[in-house]
Amino acid sequence: MMMKKYPNAATIFAGALILGFVLTSGAFAQTMKETVRSISSAGQSKIADFHSYANPHQIVVRHVDLNWNVLFDRKVLEGTATLTVERVAGVSDNAPLMLDTRDLKIEKAEASTDGGKSYKNAEFSVGANDKILGAPLTVQLPPNVNRVRISYATAPTASGLQWLAPEQTAGRKEPFMFSQAQAIHARSFIPVQDSPAVRVTYSARVRTPKNLLAVMSAEGNEQNSRQRDGDYQFKMTRAIPPYLIAIAVGDLQFKSLGARTGVYTEPAMIEKSAFELADTEKMVAATEKLFGAYRWGRYDLLVLPPSFPFGGMENPMLTFATPTILAGDKSLVSLVAHELAHSWSGNLVTNATWRDFWLNEGFTTYLERRIIEAVYGVPRREMEATLGRRGLEEELAEMAMPDQILHVDLKGRDPDEGFTGVPYEKGALFLRHLEETVGREKFDKFVRGYFDAHAFQSITTETFVDYLNVNLLASNQNIARADVEEWIEKSGLPKNAPQPKSDAFVKVETEARNYLSGKAAAKNVRAANWTTQEWLHFLGSLSSDLNAQRMTELDRAFNLTTRGNAEIAFQWLLLSIKNDYSAADARLEEFLTTIGRRKFVKPLFDELVKTPNGRKRANEIYAKARSGYHPITQATVDDILKRGK
Ligand SMILES: [Zn+2]
Repeated sequence: MMMKKYPNAATIFAGALILGFVLTSGAFAQTMKETVRSISSAGQSKIADFHSYANPHQIVVRHVDLNWNVLFDRKVLEGTATLTVERVAGVSDNAPLMLDTRDLKIEKAEASTDGGKSYKNAEFSVGANDKILGAPLTVQLPPNVNRVRISYATAPTASGLQWLAPEQTAGRKEPFMFSQAQAIHARSFIPVQDSPAVRVTYSARVRTPKNLLAVMSAEGNEQNSRQRDGDYQFKMTRAIPPYLIAIAVGDLQFKSLGARTGVYTEPAMIEKSAFELADTEKMVAATEKLFGAYRWGRYDLLVLPPSFPFGGMENPMLTFATPTILAGDKSLVSLVAHELAHSWSGNLVTNATWRDFWLNEGFTTYLERRIIEAVYGVPRREMEATLGRRGLEEELAEMAMPDQILHVDLKGRDPDEGFTGVPYEKGALFLRHLEETVGREKFDKFVRGYFDAHAFQSITTETFVDYLNVNLLASNQNIARADVEEWIEKSGLPKNAPQPKSDAFVKVETEARNYLSGKAAAKNVRAANWTTQEWLHFLGSLSSDLNAQRMTELDRAFNLTTRGNAEIAFQWLLLSIKNDYSAADARLEEFLTTIGRRKFVKPLFDELVKTPNGRKRANEIYAKARSGYHPITQATVDDILKRGK
């Protein structure tokens, strides 16, 4: 996923500690005992997933067949999930199947012993609802069971689905729905073993209003787009963790970008999207050359309406992306490089639990920069790496020590709290440190070998470290095991952390210094040919003691308030709040009421509530913006506005 730069994790962490403390007593302790068991699936042993009630060590789900009606009027998915199950050898005939659910209305459970030819009703019960984990669904099964069919409906408030009214879309005529299952939201729309250690194939039949198209993280999208009739079929034949099952329904069009790449989006955005994403095929080729074959067939993107809470989500075969990357100049496509890289790190080799999340995101951020280098050159890579490191340092300055650890402890906490800059940027710096120490040739060989050795498996940090020891450290005296342990198990940034270098940014820093010191007037800042990255670095280097007049000068010289590039607009608006620059007020309101990407929304509200006047404005803007935000963004801003009240 792409959701870097997530300041104030310290505050969230403090809250979570208290929550963890309260919940570990009583009923929750019982729950944890139930779930903290070593599970064995996909060849893994001794994996404790604190965020799932499932029992794959006893009965494991291998395939999920979905049959859904998409009911826009009720904001509900209704239908069945048929699970192909296997009782693990040696496990008692009486062991029930344990699944994860959240706010699902379970109508019926049935079991089959003849591969789904005939079914008999099965007894089931739904346990108490836990705020973080949802509720366990227990199904009693006959000894030689091989299929379990659950009839159910989702809640209109399902945490993994967002239902948009027509006016929240680009076309403003048709409704839209999309899912976001990472980290543990798949259970809010499918009763599954919702642990990344469990891998399933899946198939689906989806019925929608006739004039809309459904797309999924599976095969079938292109064919369905040629026959828009409201009845669509899909299949994913490669085993994936449940958090990668994804669906979107809307007035979608397809445009090809290359032999195996293309883009889906609303008609109003299709040309703009195709232009922006034109280098996608090139990126796939570049990544294959570096890290081995792309193993998923097609690579398509879905550009969503602006309320999508994240930058992107690496749903296999079909990346979900925010429209805020459509800058008109391909300057923000590192997001595509990132989501594409997940086809190797994350989707092919997956974190077995959410505390191993850095294996997904650290590797992916490292690969993202390598792809950017291959397609756009070293200077661009170094600019982006510098911005990444600066963001991480700012975040670490405010972050509780335990959260600064790559192999973070998330016991008793919502895994969404692990989505800080640490797994992304600290993880990438660690891998870059290894590359710089052993040399690129050796390191690339190691990375390719790592993907091959663990393809279609879910692994823990311990498995990675074992592999690293045998395949890289044993033949390299330059890296000590203590060094690796410091990177993975300790807080902060080690002293040997790589420092990216950008000549272009050195010049930008000079311009920023000269402007800040009054040596240069705004109109004399030499910014004529600046790229997006240079602008971001410049704005990030300015401070909160520019007065209104100096902000006005800058704005006059460079039209910053009217910039369409979402990243530049965001940095400028943040600076405007810090400097009380009221000429940007209307733009701020427009930005916050049209874009729901949490990376932008959260810091802007965080900054607003620092002053009484700003808090008043925050409340006024949020009253208009809230209904357009995804439940995840709503929860984030609700918290900010409650804080310190
Ligand atoms: Zn990611």
